Amino acid sequence: MPLAIKGHHQRQHRYLITLLCALLPILLGVAILYVQAEISLGQSTAQTTKEAVRELDLMLDNASIVAKHVLPLAGQVCDASTQQILREEVTQHPFVRSSSLASGENIYCGSHFGSKRVQRLNPADYVNGQLWLRGSKPKSADSSLLIYRLNSGDHSALTTVNSYHLTNALRLISREVDLILQVGPNWLSSAGYIQAAAVPVFAVASNSLASTRYPYSVKAGMPEGEVWRYMKEQYPALFCLLVFLGILAGGVGYWFQKLSSAPSHELQRALDANEFIPYFQPVVRGKTLEWAGAEVLMRWQHPTEGLVRPDLFIPLAEHCGLIVPMTRALLHQTALLLAPNQTLLPVGFHITVNITAHHCQDINLVQDCREFLCAFSPGQITLVLELTERELITPSDVTHRIFQELHELGVMIAIDDFGTGHSSLSYLRDFNVDYLKIDKTFVAAIGVDSLSRHILDSIIELSEKLGLRVVAEGIETPAQRDYLVAQGVDFLQGYLFGRPTNAETFISDLRER
Ligand code: C2E
Ligand code: CA
Ligand code: CA
Repeated sequence: MPLAIKGHHQRQHRYLITLLCALLPILLGVAILYVQAEISLGQSTAQTTKEAVRELDLMLDNASIVAKHVLPLAGQVCDASTQQILREEVTQHPFVRSSSLASGENIYCGSHFGSKRVQRLNPADYVNGQLWLRGSKPKSADSSLLIYRLNSGDHSALTTVNSYHLTNALRLISREVDLILQVGPNWLSSAGYIQAAAVPVFAVASNSLASTRYPYSVKAGMPEGEVWRYMKEQYPALFCLLVFLGILAGGVGYWFQKLSSAPSHELQRALDANEFIPYFQPVVRGKTLEWAGAEVLMRWQHPTEGLVRPDLFIPLAEHCGLIVPMTRALLHQTALLLAPNQTLLPVGFHITVNITAHHCQDINLVQDCREFLCAFSPGQITLVLELTERELITPSDVTHRIFQELHELGVMIAIDDFGTGHSSLSYLRDFNVDYLKIDKTFVAAIGVDSLSRHILDSIIELSEKLGLRVVAEGIETPAQRDYLVAQGVDFLQGYLFGRPTNAETFISDLRER
């Protein structure tokens, strides 16, 4: 049944939703922290690149000053005094490692080598004719250099910055951010090797800044996984808070689900969704076997479980006090379905509705019945309320008032399942009963169990004496029918004459008749 059925299935579903409730704030929080960490790292690399450019510009400024100072000497003889000037300039300016002079394509005079060697100058090596990041050959005595060139006509002054200063700067500006100095196609990382291969792409917080004064740029970034590392380091308290929020959200989710999946909530939901629908089972006259009425039997049209039998949910509906509004809704639906087809009904057609002890304490029942009758032309139908004998009603001022007003309205009372309960003669008199409905267990005993058949005969006799009409239910065989007809039973109900059907089938059956 929908209220217990779900069991394992529902539990799994509930756990899944609880898990989702718990994960939602955690995942959302982690995503926000991730974005926040990316922004912070991005800002950090942007700042670092700026600082690196500032630092490198400063080195090149020194190289540029030396170049400016020695450029007038280019083209002059490389004698001892020229070499002395070149050396002095180098020693007076930080970061500058050497200075030399070139004329045409020959570097003919240097602070280190004097005039002993003449080297070739290839202007194409210099980006914008100004800067060359030169790698050293393996096992060569030369080291890697950043060479600054200043030229005037055919003459040039060349100053160098040792790659040691460069890599030191790249390494020390930031320990977390990886920096690359790029000059034309060549680049230098903090590892110290100058390469001409493709510049590596940083996975995290990649940034690039070109110097506005010299033809080079600095690329910065961080390796894969840096965001998580940063988050772990920076946000441990926030992580704890997220876990706490997740547990809280999971708990609240679980609690809400429990609350909303409580059986009474499920019934209330079904009531609001109009899932309780009437089925109709014909009641025939004993003498003619013509349709004299129909019993309205409630069914639950459950969205996933299909059609649910009433004995699976009526007891719970009674327990949680929903049976009264459910019956009201059933009366309302029955009127909506039958009233437009009332011309198909024989005059005085009995429409029987089951009520419980709860209804007998609720004066609104009278109004519900009045509204139901108002939907039909006067006298077209007779409303019968069936009250099971299994639940005894304690007579009170309210119950007496209810039964009196119902009788004034023309509503009849039947005692259902008669013979199975403990009603006394005074009980029948107290509630002004019109019909006794013999329980189907006695009908089933016909031709089988002689004791039950005696009880059946006694009920029929008693009702005759009390002037009550008798309905027998649960008739499945012609033998049962014939016996009851022979006993003069007024009305018969059972699968032999028709099973409970939905309104559509019931109305089309009525039409056929
Ligand atoms: P009930 O009032 O005694 O209704 C008769 C039950 O016997 C119905 O079961 C009906 O389908 C079944 N029945 C009819 N003919 C035969 C037959 O020939 N053989 C057999 N074996 N059974 C037959 P149903 O519809 O499952 O209802 C079960 C019970 O649920 C009802 O017993 C009634 O106590 C309760 N119920 C049904 N609808 C309502 C309702 O709207 N309000 C209240 N309070 N109780 C309801
Ligand atoms: Ca009944
Ligand atoms: Ca019954």
